[in-house]
Amino acid sequence: MTTVAHGKVVIRVEECKGCGLCVDSCPPRCLRLAPELSAYGVHPAEYAGEGCTGCGICFYCCPEPGAIIVYKRRIPDRTTASQPKGSYAAAL
Ligand code: SF4
Ligand code: SF4
Repeated sequence: MTTVAHGKVVIRVEECKGCGLCVDSCPPRCLRLAPELSAYGVHPAEYAGEGCTGCGICFYCCPEPGAIIVYKRRIPDRTTASQPKGSYAAAL
């Protein structure tokens, strides 16, 4: 059975301090610390590429403003034919 992701997340490496709080708090475990060091000498968080539900927990637990952007899948409005299907909108 094919499942459709309801969210995706973007980590801004230049804002991430590598604390790992988002990694530990993500329910579907789709975040991890990158093996490479950032310019700050830390292992920044990165998205595994699939599994994000768009719940926003990582956003709320991150102590660094702007380090995480969560996108939620836009549910097409059946009354508005012009809305693109399957697109994402910034949620948090
Ligand atoms: S929005 Fe939720 S599911 Fe997606 S990466 Fe953040 S904690 Fe994980
Ligand atoms: S909680 Fe924020 S600062 Fe900590 S690893 Fe995740 S994105 Fe980086």
